[in-house]
Amino acid sequence: MKMTIREAQTWASSFLAKQNIEQAELEAEIMIRSLFGWDRSQLFVHWNESMPMSRLEQFKQWLNRRINHEPIQYIIGTQEFFGREFQVNSSVLIPRPETELLIEEVLQQAEQIWQDQPITVVDIGTGSGAIAITLSLEKPNWNVHTVDISKQALQVAKRNAERLGAKLIFHHGNLLEPIIRQKMKVDLVISNPPYIPSRDIQTLMPEVKNYEPILALDGGEDGLVFYRQIISQSFSVLKRLGMIAFEIGTDQSEAIQQLFANSGAKSYQVLPDFQGIPRVAMA
Ligand code: GLN
Repeated sequence: MKMTIREAQTWASSFLAKQNIEQAELEAEIMIRSLFGWDRSQLFVHWNESMPMSRLEQFKQWLNRRINHEPIQYIIGTQEFFGREFQVNSSVLIPRPETELLIEEVLQQAEQIWQDQPITVVDIGTGSGAIAITLSLEKPNWNVHTVDISKQALQVAKRNAERLGAKLIFHHGNLLEPIIRQKMKVDLVISNPPYIPSRDIQTLMPEVKNYEPILALDGGEDGLVFYRQIISQSFSVLKRLGMIAFEIGTDQSEAIQQLFANSGAKSYQVLPDFQGIPRVAMA
């Protein structure tokens, strides 16, 4: 069966829509472009050419994965974050736009506290490296360290750092343990830790619960396990004028402020995301 690129895209779009994939039209376009490595304008240039058989086969495989609710980012292998392209696979969480907000708020706060001083930062649970790599590219004089307990995740993060030209230091281990072991002192601890309460994992979309790493999602019984551990470990690594910055989940604003208050933090605040949901917590 011969078809043009345009026909393949239209056909894929209605195929995905029939299977209740929400942004069927957009996703069909993204897959076609990724299949050939085209940007939007290149797509239109090639619009009426015929779709090569070999690519058609691959395209069909991708569509079948997508209707099984595999996230499109794992299928095409990338996700944009803070204007840069990150490679992702099923051993890392797909970077989210909410996390871009965490970065923006931290950059703003850091500007006020440290101006242009070269500070030392540690990102906990780096996953794809989205946070650590972005910080080190936005702030080239910062000394950025990052930790993950998953060796597979560290591999992905290292590859992303290399491709994007970021220089940072990777540690394998649990939360702040490698930093404590090396007796390092840091100015800023940042993390988007797993924060979904264990019993809620089953209520997540199939894209998330069936494909994203449980290690990156499950925040223990009340979803707060990692915040507690990170805050208590931070006493050993933070300098006197130090900051902790977290992404938090829905309904965690009160609890996180309580944790900060109990830890004796001098000041703390929680900021909302674009939907008005409290999302960024800093102390
Ligand atoms: N730091 C990574 C991100 O924000 C991974 C976070 C995680 O796996 N919980 O995308």
